[in-house]
Amino acid sequence: MSRTIPLADHRTSRAAERWETLLAGAPGVTAGAPLADTRGRALKDLRISVTDRCNVRCVYCMPKDVFGRDYPFLPQSALLSFEEIARIARAFVSLGVTKIRLTGGEPLLRRHLERLIAMLAALRVDLTLTTNGALLAKKARALAEAGLGRVTVSLDALDEPTFRAMGDTDTPVERVLEGIDAAVAAGLAPVKINAVVKRGLNEHAIVDLARRFRGSGHIVRYIEYMDVGATNGWRMDDVVPAAEILARIDREFPIEPVDPNYTGEVAERWRYRDGAGEVGVIASVTQAFCRDCTRMRLATDGRLYTCLFATEGHDLRSLSRAGADDATLLQAIAAIWRARGDRYSEIRTAATPRSSKIEMSYIGG
Ligand code: SAM
Ligand code: SF4
Ligand code: SF4
Repeated sequence: MSRTIPLADHRTSRAAERWETLLAGAPGVTAGAPLADTRGRALKDLRISVTDRCNVRCVYCMPKDVFGRDYPFLPQSALLSFEEIARIARAFVSLGVTKIRLTGGEPLLRRHLERLIAMLAALRVDLTLTTNGALLAKKARALAEAGLGRVTVSLDALDEPTFRAMGDTDTPVERVLEGIDAAVAAGLAPVKINAVVKRGLNEHAIVDLARRFRGSGHIVRYIEYMDVGATNGWRMDDVVPAAEILARIDREFPIEPVDPNYTGEVAERWRYRDGAGEVGVIASVTQAFCRDCTRMRLATDGRLYTCLFATEGHDLRSLSRAGADDATLLQAIAAIWRARGDRYSEIRTAATPRSSKIEMSYIGG
């Protein structure tokens, strides 16, 4: 079935032409009907990057020599407004999304974020946020009051020299720990703690973090260092495999595997045999989990990406600002998902070219 797209400038805009091509002949979609991509994967999660800026410069994400004073971050006018984000999110929810994660860049840098959280909370989804924690102590209460469900805090080490080396930052580690406490006090527990492990930099932090958070109710999730973006100089040799991470923990505090909570869960779950809680590993390099990947990513400027390692996005901002109605928006998202075949982590090799990959701070981690 072909349809006319209600775009004010649809005769002249190249973006509109691309949308017309994508939508021409796309089967209709009914809100609430199951939607599958070319590998039979359902659309369940939406990650939204609310800013491409950050207040720290993790060496594995935004190396300072690239993301310096002159780096061309997006201007305010390029960012989706909260109303635009909420409208797009509503379309996603009617297509089956049940989980929304706000991310970035550093999402707590986006002014009045709690206003967006309140708008998204009204969609009755599992609403979470990933933060580096530097501003969390100040903002946790307002975020919780606005309707945020839970929070994930990134913390790669507990000792000051390693923490500062990983984040290339002057922020003291204590500030992040205060942020975690504030999140708990505000009712955002249990907190998940994300730790990227990079060979030669913070292997010792694996056991430090386990020791610190065992018995606290918080769940540390160790992440294999990934080849996202084109600027972090990733090498396979820098990856500490999940098996090694688990072995290091097990030597100190014996652990055993736990069944996943649901299909498509990113972290593999383990628990301490003495009952002191859980840890997780996100083994996206050594044990790819593309088979169950149910995620779509909305970047800061409204481009939609079907994979963290995608090289091209779909410009939803243009579609929306050109006057597309809700039905067209829904059709567009459905058409993109149906055409999706991504499985980058399954086919990655050390030689996979990186030059055109999108930076994580922009696409949203
Ligand atoms: N700024 C927030 C933070 O750091 O929590 C949110 C955005 S950050 C891009 C989201 C997550 O991606 C963080 O937990 C971070 O550690 C992780 N991350 C960034 N670069 C990575 C890489 N190269 N490999 C693995 N994880 C990475
Ligand atoms: Fe910023 Fe998060 Fe990237 Fe670190 S991982 S540089 S905190 S966006
Ligand atoms: Fe999903 Fe792409 Fe990551 Fe595979 S590589 S798990 S498809 S985001």
